[in-house]
Amino acid sequence: MKIYKAAIIGLGPSGLAVNKLIYGKKEDEVIAFENTNFKNRNNLFGFWLTDWMKPFEKLIKKKWHNWSIGNDFIKINHYEKNYPYCVISFDTWREYCLDNPNKIEIKIEKVLRYYPVKNYFKIITEDKREYFAEKIYDSRSIKHKNNELIQHFFGINITTEDNKFHENEATLMHFTQEESMLHFIYALPFSHNKALIESTVFSKEILTENWYRNKIDKFLKNLNITKYEENEIERGVIPMFSAEEKSANHPNIFNIGIRGGACKTSTGYAFSFLIKQILLLKKTNKNKVYVHNFIETEMDKIFIKYLKNFNENGKSFINLAKNLNGYEFQSFMMGQSSLLTKIKIINSMPKMPFIMSIFKN
Ligand SMILES: Cc1cc2nc3c(=O)[nH]c(=O)nc-3n(C[C@H](O)[C@H](O)[C@H](O)COP(=O)(O)OP(=O)(O)OC[C@H]3O[C@@H](n4cnc5c(N)ncnc54)[C@H](O)[C@@H]3O)c2cc1C
Repeated sequence: MKIYKAAIIGLGPSGLAVNKLIYGKKEDEVIAFENTNFKNRNNLFGFWLTDWMKPFEKLIKKKWHNWSIGNDFIKINHYEKNYPYCVISFDTWREYCLDNPNKIEIKIEKVLRYYPVKNYFKIITEDKREYFAEKIYDSRSIKHKNNELIQHFFGINITTEDNKFHENEATLMHFTQEESMLHFIYALPFSHNKALIESTVFSKEILTENWYRNKIDKFLKNLNITKYEENEIERGVIPMFSAEEKSANHPNIFNIGIRGGACKTSTGYAFSFLIKQILLLKKTNKNKVYVHNFIETEMDKIFIKYLKNFNENGKSFINLAKNLNGYEFQSFMMGQSSLLTKIKIINSMPKMPFIMSIFKN
């Protein structure tokens, strides 16, 4: 009977990070389970370049020091010299994390359950196989919950005629007016004729692919782009509720990634936070670490209740962007904002609806 040092459940970015950042030694024998063909997954992860992300700078596909937030009538531009907006692709992250001196055995199998036996765990998969490991890193998480908001999106990587995009400026949020849902376009130009254009919605239900495609086409038409070549698509769902599991009652079970509380619920940003989480887990002997500070988590909760109960069309985000500079904006998005920035954020929000949201579900 072979007992591995660790079992990683799920080879998303957090499971991969455990392999690279915690089990980097030659003698580390790790087993990982993934129930999809994770080599086919590819999408981009955006984040602002915080100090803890600097060691991964060489993996970045592109950085933008300028970004904008707006709608058809107003556009707020931000510039930040030291903390640009960046993206890393999943396949770059996967290759980086699997390029390790340790021994990792990858099983494309679904884990059904695991439980402690003596000083290790027995792991049982759907096809009734049994494996054994000293520690468990579990990244399985729920993406939907009844009556809760989700962030859902569909994006296309396109190539257009020459000189259609300003490659140095990312469009973080271009809001459109919709009935009873919040919608914006997220556009990342990689060059003058290549970009990712994504339609993103905050609501309770996913929409048809055509719905997002129509919004993308409309946005491109306003840029005088009617013809483009489609290279790749990306789609996804990110919970806007806490998908965090209670901390495990066994010291050798680690909930990681979104399951471990890495997602900033108000924005869906999780990638850089889950890396922070794994780096913190490496340094402690606890099985739980906190990557979001208490005040910002509480602010996020009120904001989500506001989004659930009031019809927001993007004005609050635009107002927020107007009242903050690039440095303050990225510091809030990355959970690093000062007290003064937090006060500016609270002041940017519609007062009565926010006060009412404190008392709502
Ligand atoms: C398309 C997309 C784009 C995103 N873009 C950004 C972004 O720009 N910036 C950002 O910060 N965040 C982004 N996110 C949010 C977040 O970073 C991702 O959701 C990220 O993948 C979360 O990583 P994770 O490791 O917690 O979970 P996951 O990536 O969900 O990994 C969990 C893995 O476990 C596997 N699994 C589940 N159940 C089992 C089982 N029983 N047995 C074996 N394996 C199992 C799943 O197949 C999955 O691969 C994006 C999310 C998506 C989906």
